[in-house]
Amino acid sequence: MRDVRLLIVEDEAELRKSLRLGLAEDGFTITCADRAEHAERLLADQVFDAIVLDLRLPGKDGIDFLREIRAAGNPTPVLALTARGSLDDRVIGLDSGADDYLTKPFAFAELLARLRALIRRRTIGTQSTLKAGGLEFDTVRRRALRDGRDLALSPKEAILLELLMRNAGQPVTRDMIAEVVWGTGYNDFTNLIEVFINRLRQKISDGPGDSPIATVRGVGYSIRSH
Ligand code: CA
Repeated sequence: MRDVRLLIVEDEAELRKSLRLGLAEDGFTITCADRAEHAERLLADQVFDAIVLDLRLPGKDGIDFLREIRAAGNPTPVLALTARGSLDDRVIGLDSGADDYLTKPFAFAELLARLRALIRRRTIGTQSTLKAGGLEFDTVRRRALRDGRDLALSPKEAILLELLMRNAGQPVTRDMIAEVVWGTGYNDFTNLIEVFINRLRQKISDGPGDSPIATVRGVGYSIRSH
């Protein structure tokens, strides 16, 4: 795996330390900040693959920090950490430009899975129009088109289709689908994946019996490359 650089912004010393140790053990290169002001100085001259951001920080708040870096055009994926039961934090965090959130306390394994999914989503490529299965997918506007017609996919359906199209002609495993679409392992998701695939097939098919998405028995799914 290439070097993945993470910025952790967290004021609680114990949590910061355990995140640093745990994530470093998993091969990430870690930089820590205990305040938003410190993180801003780091971002001024370094590029990170992702930021783990506590939304409640003393001094400048994590939410304000996030709004400011997004307003400045910084696209780094952000996993926001929110207080337990604070729905407001989650909503505000996502509105302010977080890509995903975790509620404290969280299992380290879940943090890891979400981070990996976040980084993979952002690094799978920079090509702006994908073509496969008789469809076009605009990765900037996140729209799927068939014969110029917008297929009106939901955000999760769009992520799923993009994943299949980026791997056109080869199988995408259920595990990979669960991780990229939901940010977690597949065991709880087997039925949900099937439901999503079937809904996607209906939306993108050109008529009954025609689907560019094939089931690869025991593995996952694949979209044909043309
Ligand atoms: Ca805090």
